[in-house]
Amino acid sequence: MLSRDDVFKELGIAPVWRLRETPPASRSPLTAPGSPSTTWDQLADAVAHCTACKLSATRTQGVLGVGDRNADWLIVGEAPGADEDAQGEPFVGQAGKLLDAMLASIGLKRGDNVYITNVLKSRPPGNRNPEPDEVAACRPYLLAQIELIQPKLILALGRFAAQSLLDTDEAISRLRGRVHQFQNVPLVVTYHPAYLLRNLPDKARAWEDLCLARRTMQTLAIA
Ligand code: URA
Repeated sequence: MLSRDDVFKELGIAPVWRLRETPPASRSPLTAPGSPSTTWDQLADAVAHCTACKLSATRTQGVLGVGDRNADWLIVGEAPGADEDAQGEPFVGQAGKLLDAMLASIGLKRGDNVYITNVLKSRPPGNRNPEPDEVAACRPYLLAQIELIQPKLILALGRFAAQSLLDTDEAISRLRGRVHQFQNVPLVVTYHPAYLLRNLPDKARAWEDLCLARRTMQTLAIA
């Protein structure tokens, strides 16, 4: 009787060699971060299954972002907190309520020409600060989002968003109040809503930043 291999040989389709698939030690973010071939579906899948940093062991779910994927405005926060980790959407807790009010103050609404995301897609346990290796591991996702959305303006909320996007360790007090560029996209820095909840006097400064962002966008619309 012919063996299976003999049959394959007779049919002219042998030898058949297949590499056995070995699971990677950790699933890396994206093979080609931000490449034009990265689709939203691939990005969402990569974030959902990401094990590129230790936060994957403690998060409930990855939080990609929310809103209009063709938005002119991209809002970048720090990292999901407990509420965001549970609900899978950025800025749904107290800080999120303030963010919505901040957006409303300049005529914007979550989801309407606005996309909201974070530097980190996974919650740091106990809401501790993001660590440098976590920011680095998550960076390809943010870059891919920027590439897909092609926003006209980026609003960076707080120190981590500002410093990681601008690749600087300058204090937020020195970064706010002027227009920066991120890959030729105007970027305005303001205080994080969670910080503003604890430091009410700085709300006036945040309002100035929002007005700067709105003026910058209006200038872009005229140009
Ligand atoms: N703080 C953030 O920076 N992002 C969120 O999504 C929630 C709170």
